[in-house]
Amino acid sequence: MPNEISHFIGGKLVAGTSGRTAPVYNPATGAQTGEVPLASAAEVRAAVEIANKAAPGWAATTPLRRARILNAFLRILEERVDQIAEVVSAEHGKVFSDAKGEVQRGMEVVEFATAAPQLLKGEITEDVGTRIDSHAVRQPLGVVAGITPFNFPAMVPMWMFPVALACGNCFILKPSERDPSASLLLAEWLKEAGLPDGVFTVIHGDKTAVDALLDDPDIQAVSFVGSTPIARYIYETAARTGKRCQALGGAKNHMIVMPDADMDQAVDALMGAAYGSAGERCMAISVAVPVGEATAEALMAKLEPRVRALKVGPGTDPESEMGPLVTKQHLDKVSGYVDQGVAEGAKLVVDGRGLKLQGYEDGYYIGGTLFDHVTPDMRIYKEEIFGPVLSVVRADSYDTAADLINTHEFGNGTAIFTRDGDAAREFAHRIKVGMVGINVPIPVPMAFHSFGGWKASLFGDHHMHGPEGVRFYTRLKTITTRWPTGIRAGAEFVMPTMK
Ligand code: NAD
Repeated sequence: MPNEISHFIGGKLVAGTSGRTAPVYNPATGAQTGEVPLASAAEVRAAVEIANKAAPGWAATTPLRRARILNAFLRILEERVDQIAEVVSAEHGKVFSDAKGEVQRGMEVVEFATAAPQLLKGEITEDVGTRIDSHAVRQPLGVVAGITPFNFPAMVPMWMFPVALACGNCFILKPSERDPSASLLLAEWLKEAGLPDGVFTVIHGDKTAVDALLDDPDIQAVSFVGSTPIARYIYETAARTGKRCQALGGAKNHMIVMPDADMDQAVDALMGAAYGSAGERCMAISVAVPVGEATAEALMAKLEPRVRALKVGPGTDPESEMGPLVTKQHLDKVSGYVDQGVAEGAKLVVDGRGLKLQGYEDGYYIGGTLFDHVTPDMRIYKEEIFGPVLSVVRADSYDTAADLINTHEFGNGTAIFTRDGDAAREFAHRIKVGMVGINVPIPVPMAFHSFGGWKASLFGDHHMHGPEGVRFYTRLKTITTRWPTGIRAGAEFVMPTMK
């Protein structure tokens, strides 16, 4: 019997009442393991009302107290990282060690948010005029929403809510309906850490729930991570309804391999960045660009046997380097792109289609796939595949390679592998991409920096977490003060404490 998944509203698990549900699968076996409710607009409205009632109390809770709750939450996460990673692996399919890695990256944002009192310090200028002072404070927005993708069911919500909560907002999470269970553990552990009821809500659903959040007048801001068409739709709709919005979209991340690169290091980097998490990462490298024919030949000679030797298996097997894709539909989509690449004339060097694993015949597996001689007019180059498919585009010069990246629709992440500091500096300066790696294939910023791409990879003007996250989840108020007379308090002789 599939597990009936609940919403988390008002501090408790609540069954769905819309009558609409979606199946949740274990991608490693193909078995249905859960049934997730898809909220109606009325259910979303009721959840927002509860959050809206909790909002003034949470905003009035001092940043230090909020930080202490986040600290307690962090300690719970540290103790139970394996438990949540198992849930992530079971519904997403990624290998257990990788699932633990995503939880760890999310915990770093919680750790960042525990600095709430420091992060929310304002600015002050004495004497903006004679005996006139100005100070600026950042205040919470109220109730904010986060809509998240399937590929990081723990980490992407944690890019958002720790900072939103630290800043004094109530947060409503609409997780992916494909792997919804990790979000409920986060909700229960936040409550256990002392978060008041109504401050954190999980509402499951599809477009109906998302549209209800976008239309709701009590939602002040929307954070979104997912595919580009939906990101664009969220951004446009949120703008029309007057909400603050950051909407992160898809990607096609290129890695340039220069003739002077350490080729073993570059190949190791490509293997992890292209095939880790079965390529279902927005920072995966999906295009390798060797510069010069000799570089391309050397790269392919080392890459091909490594791709053939990739160990694909269930996420629970510690030997697996790569798990299955998330759903049967996604497997069909990725396999369809491989067919498309062959039809377009790219050279299929390693073909992962049709992989069947003994004992896991119904799992959604595809092997590592490698294309050579991919050209910029091909769909497999232009579009995001979001699977373990690496395209090699041979470039005759560094300028050609950099132009490929600069003219591509997406601009999430990119990397260059070289020993030449001048080339690396030029690349970092000129390239039109939000996150750049120099001999680092997946340059995901740490929690105290901010994460975000350019072009069709991000709609809005704020990246996530770090200082940009604090700005996104607060609004600025500037106060100008003049006192006609001083007020003198009586003397106190006890040690002063905050009351
Ligand atoms: P998706 O766009 O299908 O779904 C994302 C969220 O939007 C889900 O919660 C889903 O329920 C909701 N949604 C789906 N269709 C909708 C619609 N028509 N109207 C309103 N809401 C809708 O994305 P996904 O397949 O879950 O995730 C993979 C995508 O996310 C990839 O494109 C990947 O690059 C991207 N991604 C980007 C980043 C980044 O930081 N830029 C990070 C992770 C994932």
